[in-house]
Amino acid sequence: MNVKRNILLNPGPSTTTDTVKAAQIVPDICPREEEFASIMKELREDLLKIVHADPEIYTSVLFCGSGTINIDVCLNSLLDEGKKILVVNNGAYSARAVEICRYYGMPHIDLSFPADEPPDLELVERTLEKNPDIGLVHTTHNETGTGLLNPIKEIGAAAHRHGAIFTVDTTSTLAMRPINIADENIDFCMASAQKGLNGMTGLSFIIGNREIIERSASFPKRSYYCNLYMQYHFFETTGEMHFTPPVQTVYAAVQALREYFEEGEEAKWIRHTRAFNAVKSGLAELGFREAIRTEFQAGLVSSVVYPDDPNWNFERVHDYCYKRGFTIYPGKISGTDTFRLCVLGAIDENDIKDFFNVFREALDDCGVSVPAIYKEGNR
Ligand SMILES: *Cc1c(COP(=O)(O)O)cnc(C)c1O
Repeated sequence: MNVKRNILLNPGPSTTTDTVKAAQIVPDICPREEEFASIMKELREDLLKIVHADPEIYTSVLFCGSGTINIDVCLNSLLDEGKKILVVNNGAYSARAVEICRYYGMPHIDLSFPADEPPDLELVERTLEKNPDIGLVHTTHNETGTGLLNPIKEIGAAAHRHGAIFTVDTTSTLAMRPINIADENIDFCMASAQKGLNGMTGLSFIIGNREIIERSASFPKRSYYCNLYMQYHFFETTGEMHFTPPVQTVYAAVQALREYFEEGEEAKWIRHTRAFNAVKSGLAELGFREAIRTEFQAGLVSSVVYPDDPNWNFERVHDYCYKRGFTIYPGKISGTDTFRLCVLGAIDENDIKDFFNVFREALDDCGVSVPAIYKEGNR
């Protein structure tokens, strides 16, 4: 196969291997055949292994959709009558969860914190104390909008002390940064195939506590297509996805999982870290500043502050890099202009070094000063 290799530094989809791309080219098959059901059965079991989930306690449920479907499904399916949702919100993806609560008209508390630091855990605890009707706590692990890592273990412990279910959006850490579902106090986590697994878009999955899913059978039903219990029950009784699965994407995900286990959890995280460190040193060499302090970062997404240079033009720099096979992405922090460099994909430090050669050319082409200019006080 001869497909041009692009280096995606956007926050997913990520750069895939040729073998994952090729895995999609298979004979046509009806997904209702037993052959296909057995592929999904194995896939569901393998997904548990990524987060070291005991199959006696946890299960995984597949959905056809992008990662947002998981947030939608968890929130709308796991809230019992008379309960409310607490969203620990310090970024764009938790804000999306708040928006989902609003669209369904579900009672919720939007506990907002600044986007550039971890949330105040004492305030989380006090909010849970004051609101004994909180039935579900939700937050985001790596806030992909900024690259900030949230203290999920502590938030999960607080949720459990108050008898609430804990759901975590791990879309931009799962299969990259090692996660142990039980140790992190997670009841439900989630991701989609095109992020850390380096598979294709269209397949998402939730890994979570089987007993809670079964209990949720009696919870109010707020969606038909996006109900967790209904999808789980269908998988358990028939082995199939309730409605048509993304067939070719499933084949690619199976190959991506094979490659994940071949590389190994630890080696993969070391590779991501190597690429991330190359991003940080490349930025430092050019005098670019990051919006999030290093000690708060998840090690996968860098939010870079626009330089105070009249010649800086994100679109022009983007277009220059894009034409040469490197994709950079706008930021998502209100009040600070940033762009993002993410290392989610099947890439390594050499790709990042190649990127910085092109980025440097782009800066020269635009007439942007190096080292980058910042007014005092602009971190
Ligand atoms: C990518 C991502 C999602 C899913 O976004 P889609 O636009 O639906 O692909 C959800 N949460 C986080 C933290 C993400 O990084």
